Amino acid sequence: MKTARGRAATRRARLLVPGGGALFQRVFTRLGCDGRPPRFRVEFYPYASLVLTIRRREDAVYVRFSDLLQRAPLAVLEGAAALLLSRVYRRKAPRALVEPYLSYARSDRTRGRISRMRSGRVRLASTGPRGRHFDLEQMFEQLNEKYFAGSLRRPHIGWSVRSWRRQFGCYDPGPNQILLNRRMDHPGVPQVAVEYVLYHEMLHVKHPTRRSGCSLVSHSSEFRAEEKRFAEFERARKILDRLAAAA
Ligand SMILES: [Zn+2]
Repeated sequence: MKTARGRAATRRARLLVPGGGALFQRVFTRLGCDGRPPRFRVEFYPYASLVLTIRRREDAVYVRFSDLLQRAPLAVLEGAAALLLSRVYRRKAPRALVEPYLSYARSDRTRGRISRMRSGRVRLASTGPRGRHFDLEQMFEQLNEKYFAGSLRRPHIGWSVRSWRRQFGCYDPGPNQILLNRRMDHPGVPQVAVEYVLYHEMLHVKHPTRRSGCSLVSHSSEFRAEEKRFAEFERARKILDRLAAAA
């Protein structure tokens, strides 16, 4: 769970592919797709594997490349673009155009990077669940009973080793770990605020995303609605806003 400052940083972290729009227009023309090329918005996205996605929305086309392609040569990106465009515009992509991407995807080096990324879902160091003032494991059990009918399986839980500026808490589905910002393990912080942050992260356990890491999670409307079931939602939010401003 992020502070407002943290949310802004995450938005900036979306990485546009340099020259991505022009690249897609080029490939669009090469494939002989019909009509005027649309506006392309192309970004790298932290998928957990070599995924490519494309969506058409009125006059614009949104493309996401796995960020594993960040250091890939231009020919590989062109191949990926050709694959996607041929799918959407029902054009046959010339083999020579697509091949660099396919061989890149098949290469041992790429596979190695994917499996390293997956197995590299290492737990962040924590100081364990029992802080000086709040015991997160005990808190987890109480919240689990109260809001989840005791149905959530307990993940690894701990306090961050250092204070964070941009997050109150985080759940990383890879290692299945909830961490709370140790800054909140403080007598000046009302327990309800800590409970609320833990509750928020527990909702991520309940609604897992496939992505690893905890910097780019999204919240569905369902998630947001469930979040408001927290008994002292408004009060907790206000406390957190104050804490964030004081950071
Ligand atoms: Zn969240």
